Amino acid sequence: MLTKELIWLFYSPDELAAKNKQYLWHPFTQMKDYIAEEPLIIARGEGVKLYDVQGKGYYDGFSSVWLNVHGHNVPELNQAIIEQLGKVAHSTLLGMANVPSILLAEQLIRLAPEGLTKVFYSDNGATAVEISLKMAFQYWQNRGIAGKHSFITMNNAYHGDTIGATSVGAIPLYHQVYKPLLFSPYVIPYPYPYRDGGDEASVNAMLDQLEQLLEEKASEIAAMIVEPVVQGASGMIIMPNGCLKKIAELLQAYDVLLIADEVATGFGRTGKMFACEHDGVTPDIMAVAKGITGGYLPVAATLVKESIYEAFYADYEEQKTFFHGHSFTGNPLGCAVALANLRLMEERNLVAEVAHKAEYLADLLKPLAGEPHVGEIRQKGLMAGIELVREKDKKEPYHWNERIGVRVCKRAREKGLLTRPLGNVIVFIPPLVSTLEEMSDMISILTEAIAETTRHCEEAVQ
Ligand SMILES: *Cc1c(COP(=O)(O)O)cnc(C)c1O
Repeated sequence: MLTKELIWLFYSPDELAAKNKQYLWHPFTQMKDYIAEEPLIIARGEGVKLYDVQGKGYYDGFSSVWLNVHGHNVPELNQAIIEQLGKVAHSTLLGMANVPSILLAEQLIRLAPEGLTKVFYSDNGATAVEISLKMAFQYWQNRGIAGKHSFITMNNAYHGDTIGATSVGAIPLYHQVYKPLLFSPYVIPYPYPYRDGGDEASVNAMLDQLEQLLEEKASEIAAMIVEPVVQGASGMIIMPNGCLKKIAELLQAYDVLLIADEVATGFGRTGKMFACEHDGVTPDIMAVAKGITGGYLPVAATLVKESIYEAFYADYEEQKTFFHGHSFTGNPLGCAVALANLRLMEERNLVAEVAHKAEYLADLLKPLAGEPHVGEIRQKGLMAGIELVREKDKKEPYHWNERIGVRVCKRAREKGLLTRPLGNVIVFIPPLVSTLEEMSDMISILTEAIAETTRHCEEAVQ
């Protein structure tokens, strides 16, 4: 409450907008475009809505970039932070522990796919991925197995923006420019049934390439990193059922580790606690972040099987220690709110609820499929992408410069719904607690925004 009053008292929205443009450089944002437009400045949140400094409310239709679980300003989560704040805000995990980090680790292991036994904390998805890669790399060396220095990644993968995570990234727009700076993994396709000949053909093409690669190079490969079941940033591309299982079996047969990047898919987002569960897979290493604190504070974790942990467990002189850590690793405030988030998820039976709401969302999205420029609607749980195309029959994409996704999202924002596009794919990732009525409202706005924008685009061409 106080914060809102203070903002209103001391700075007008115009003053804040001017300071925004003067001082801030935004991520994934062309500042030349940003400066030219009216900035959206959020002052507060309540439930599944965010409110700007003018007091206008917006549905958080992308969960503040795929994070939010219980909505904003949740009393139980606020309280968890306040209580921890009265004890200690931060103390390190380097060679010592703090209470919430221990209790959260226990809960994570209880909830994770069976066989994951140890938790290594960090602060965000990219660092959880960096840690996964470095652990996999060192694992083989600690075991005295030489030469396993490479990785496998999948086409259009996104694993975060630090250098290691960028190295295993494969979205040209984001990653190409850094190529000379990066290590080079092997890249195999991610099955994209809509564009690659359907479920079976796209899966088989991928598996064939993977098997051939493993046949020839397994002795050089430490691990494969996969976005399990949903490849998020590439446009919400969904693996057919059973595909992840086959990948896991192949890797195991060839003695290559499986790293599951559950940063986007974890904590109920796809209708299971972790997406790996859809295929009954336990990865060797699992990176989690986004939903872990309900979207409140930056906490991430890398979970490993006992065999990974054991390879680092040795006499000090052997120098098998994992020499990696961050200042805020295991932050007590973050861990406390993560614990409250998980408790609330269980009290609300939220994962089962997501599976139920997903069916309702599928019904809501159905009419959109009839829109002349909607190529494909993809959805797993409450994670959905709507791929827009210029020519539906030929699946012809809109040209990048047309910025169709950006324009649809801008229209949606005017109508009171926030989301961000991935190229020509409109993202719909509502907070997991969204009610059926709220989702229905959100999809109405999105449908109008898509219809109006694509129609306008057609008129402009004629
Ligand atoms: C968002 C994301 C990341 C990066 O997480 P940050 O917290 O933004 O660093 C990594 N992998 C996947 C699959 C993601 O969606």
